Amino acid sequence: MPAETAATPQTGTLPWDRVGLDDRFTFRCGRELDCFTHCCLDVTIVLTPYDVLRLKHSLGMSSSEFLDKHTLSPSFPGQKFPLVILKMDEQTKRCPFVSAEGCSVYRDRPWSCRMYPLGSAEPKNPTPEEGAFHFVVLEDLCHGHNGGTSRTVREWIDGQGVEEFEMMGASFKYLTLHDFWDVSQELTPSQADMFYMACYDLDRFRRFVFETRFLELLDVDEARVEAIRAHDDELLEFAIEWLRFSLFGERTMKVRPNAVVEAEA
Ligand code: SF4
Ligand code: SF4
Repeated sequence: MPAETAATPQTGTLPWDRVGLDDRFTFRCGRELDCFTHCCLDVTIVLTPYDVLRLKHSLGMSSSEFLDKHTLSPSFPGQKFPLVILKMDEQTKRCPFVSAEGCSVYRDRPWSCRMYPLGSAEPKNPTPEEGAFHFVVLEDLCHGHNGGTSRTVREWIDGQGVEEFEMMGASFKYLTLHDFWDVSQELTPSQADMFYMACYDLDRFRRFVFETRFLELLDVDEARVEAIRAHDDELLEFAIEWLRFSLFGERTMKVRPNAVVEAEA
């Protein structure tokens, strides 16, 4: 997608045909189109943890500041875990990052903005016959489908820098598709807060790790401690491992033997 803009489709149902990675579609986007930035108006953009991380860095904000200022955390019946969505401007309903020139956070725009006009979906239990798939979103607001360059789905994805987002998103996807959610009741308020902190409010999670007894209780090797201290993306991976340990009971973390003794004493 050109450097000006991108957007997210609303896909409650999927009225669009599936496309494979080698299927071609034709598309153009840019300020010469009369729909320029219309896709950044009144859209529901669900942010992944890595989206939040990239955006807070881009804006030079802490995760808490970013979440307070730019996101909402909706709740709806049957929701299993906290989600965050980008908050549109209350008056104009536009994305806070759209400008006359296009997307002001283009290098760090969210995954779904990168993908548009492609969407993707994945069954909970993919099989060789039925796995993840893509579709081309055709909406009246977007006039980019009348002409433009023919590309394969794979070429589009490669050109949008999506790979890094998908790599960083893999552990979050694992978390959200886990069998735990099939059998669990709603998270308790403290579990929901743990999830929110670890996935989205990474600076608060950092304080939780380094300013409490966390590292006295959990046995994390020194190299890992230094990596998570130095790099937010390492910290995010670690945060998700911690959630798997604390919510799902997976052995992704080791409790120090003396911590067990203390707990038993
Ligand atoms: S983040 Fe950028 S591309 Fe995405 S909706 Fe906002 S302005 Fe548009
Ligand atoms: S509506 Fe479509 S063509 Fe127009 S700016 Fe947005 S993505 Fe590009």
